Amino acid sequence: MKKVDYIVVGLGIAGISFCEELEHHQKSFVAFDSSKDASTKVAAGVINPVVLKRFTPVWNAKKHLSSSILFYQQLSKKINHKLFKETSMFRLFKSVAEQNNWMVASDKKELENFLDPKIINQNIPHVKGPFGFGKVNSTGSVDTVALVENYKIYLERINSFQNNEFDHSLLAIQNQQISYNHIIAKHIVFCEGATVVKNPYFPKKEKRSEAPILIPNKGEYLIVKSIDLKLDIMIKSSLFIIPLGNDYYKVGATYDRDDVSVQVTPQAREELVSKLKEIITCDFEVVDQVAGLRPTTRDRRPFLGSLNESKQMVFFNGLGTRGITAAPSLAKILFNYIENNTEIPTEINIRRIYKW
Ligand SMILES: Cc1cc2nc3c(=O)[nH]c(=O)nc-3n(C[C@H](O)[C@H](O)[C@H](O)COP(=O)(O)OP(=O)(O)OC[C@H]3O[C@@H](n4cnc5c(N)ncnc54)[C@H](O)[C@@H]3O)c2cc1C
Repeated sequence: MKKVDYIVVGLGIAGISFCEELEHHQKSFVAFDSSKDASTKVAAGVINPVVLKRFTPVWNAKKHLSSSILFYQQLSKKINHKLFKETSMFRLFKSVAEQNNWMVASDKKELENFLDPKIINQNIPHVKGPFGFGKVNSTGSVDTVALVENYKIYLERINSFQNNEFDHSLLAIQNQQISYNHIIAKHIVFCEGATVVKNPYFPKKEKRSEAPILIPNKGEYLIVKSIDLKLDIMIKSSLFIIPLGNDYYKVGATYDRDDVSVQVTPQAREELVSKLKEIITCDFEVVDQVAGLRPTTRDRRPFLGSLNESKQMVFFNGLGTRGITAAPSLAKILFNYIENNTEIPTEINIRRIYKW
């Protein structure tokens, strides 16, 4: 028998942030991951404090931003791989009205640190920008593939990783003790992303409306190569263009609530290619396409905590479209809830689903 403080199921950004919190507090744990379907690996990894469609601040932007940048910088040292790159982001304007909206927004207290009020009229080679650009401050990107892959290697090295599917039918909770195969733990934390819908302990439907509690939202990205583009900033228009280095760019994403598979589709490819052609004037070649499921919730807030008074079985989910930015500070809230009995704010507490 192996005795640990925690079992963690899932090693996307929720599981990774929580394991980091455990290590920080010298708690022992075993993490399981079946190495498939992680939304984290597919994510653009953009850290951005502003909703660039409406020019409004992202929920808890300031708090999440400082915590996450520090988190990825420290983790980079630990796993010996640079994960976070500070990269400027330019919002491409489609009209004079958008320029005006930007200037009004940049004057607001909650956005003044994030939106540069100047309209940038510089010519960016091969990018159509007749109405110019607005610069977003405090942005960057995380190498999410390296994050997931290197973190698993790290956990393997410290003997805290099981590279296989967690089988819920083998889980038993007795006398304040969690047991699973040959492991005994005090707590289990489910960080399963959109796959949580297969977890028998997770409620599937709202009581009143029968609507699903967790709503997977499929997103697809293209990886393109363009020799001439030579961008070293991120561009946001109808899609994101994110430089990956060596003439490669991530271009996306799509949003689809109907298709819950992680198969890439020709429709998404067509949509993204056509949108990209509206923005850039040089040639490009699609070299890859990826798809993932964002674990979204109806009120766009995460699910943290346990469904009953016992803190043995806990959920960390509902990270939606912004998990890369939000997860590190949410992991702290969850850890303090389990270990120090601090309350989880109602708006992110999983128990709010009982009112739905
Ligand atoms: C196309 C796209 C672009 C995105 N871009 C951004 C972005 O730029 N910035 C941002 O902040 N967010 C972005 N997101 C959102 C972000 O990816 C998610 O919020 C976040 O990754 C969710 O993390 P998670 O750990 O909850 O889930 P996941 O990353 O999906 O991880 C869950 C893990 O649990 C494992 N698992 C599940 N069940 C089991 C089991 N029974 N046994 C073992 N393992 C199991 C899965 O294999 C998976 O590895 C994007 C998402 C998509 C799809």
